[in-house]
This record gives sequence, structure tokens and C-alpha cells, in this order.
Amino acid sequence: MVTVGAAADEELLLALLNTTRMVGGAPTDRLAEPDGAAAWLREQQWDGLPQDIELLRSTRDTLQSLVRGGFGAGSGMSGLAPAVKGVSYRARLADDGIDWELVTPPANALVARAVLAWSELQQSAPGRLRACQNTAECTRFLIDHSKSNSARWCSMAACGNRMKARRHYQRQKSALSNDLTTAGTTPQ
Ligand SMILES: [Zn+2]
Repeated sequence: MVTVGAAADEELLLALLNTTRMVGGAPTDRLAEPDGAAAWLREQQWDGLPQDIELLRSTRDTLQSLVRGGFGAGSGMSGLAPAVKGVSYRARLADDGIDWELVTPPANALVARAVLAWSELQQSAPGRLRACQNTAECTRFLIDHSKSNSARWCSMAACGNRMKARRHYQRQKSALSNDLTTAGTTPQ
């Protein structure tokens, strides 16, 4: 049985959004080359049929801009249409009732799951999927499952500590420059 918005599909969605990263200050795209895309698919344990990489990239780009900029009229949401083309659910009799099986054309099986997970999150937990706030150095996304809904970084290790260190440095620097200004203007 396929459960829409299952944890596995949320991870897949997040992994897809995070295929673009800053490495050494430069933007990179793991789906840019066929070899990189194939390696990424293996990491997702995607042993299904070969995926349409062009569609993976364009769907990812659309999802990234929807998550960053919100959606509605003129948001470019129509860019998701190819990912869900031909997608349906098939009812099947099970021991305890009806199971719904996701049916997709082979080449867009992965993007369809990612888009369905995004849609499910939008409806059940709006705002929980968002961009890392270390926007100067990081282009990653996070899904906040915390009770307080206060997560700001893709990870504390990667961005949280760096941002804290930078704020500490800036506080020290401005305290130092205040001292210098005070020293300079204090009558002797
Ligand atoms: Zn980050």
C-alpha cells in the first residue's frame, strides 16, 4: 500500500531539493551530469526504472522556488504538471478494506512521489518545509518536525554552529569598535 506523504517520501523530497548545494562558496548541482544523477539515484536506493533526469531537475527547480517564494497564481506551480502527468491511484481490495496503490508512468515515478510529498506537507504542515536561514552560504532545505517549529538551519553541525560563531564574532567586533569610538571621543 502506498501512503502519501510517508516519511520515506518526505526524505526523498528533501534529498531532491538538496541536490543543489554550495561547495566552497560555489553552487553545485548533483543532477547536472548523468553520472552524478545516477549516483544520487543509487543513494536514494532507487532501484526502479531509469528516471527522466531533465524532469527531475526542472521539477526540483520549481519546488525550490515554490518553497522559497510561496505559491498561488503566477507562482510557476504549473511547472509541476509534467511530474504528475499520468499519475493516479488504483483501488485494491485488501484483507481489511481498500488499499490505494500509486500508479505512475515509469519515467516520472520518483518526481511524482516527491511532488505528492510536497503537496501533502503543504496541506498538513504548512511552512514546515523551508530554506535554511544561512542564506549567504547554504542553499539547503529542511523539514521541521519539532514541536516548537523553530528550526532554522539545515543542520546544527553544518550551519547552526557556523552562524552562532559568526554572530559571536560580529558582537565582539562591534563591542570593540564601540570601545574605540568611546575612547576616541572621551575628553582627556
Ligand atoms: Zn544550511
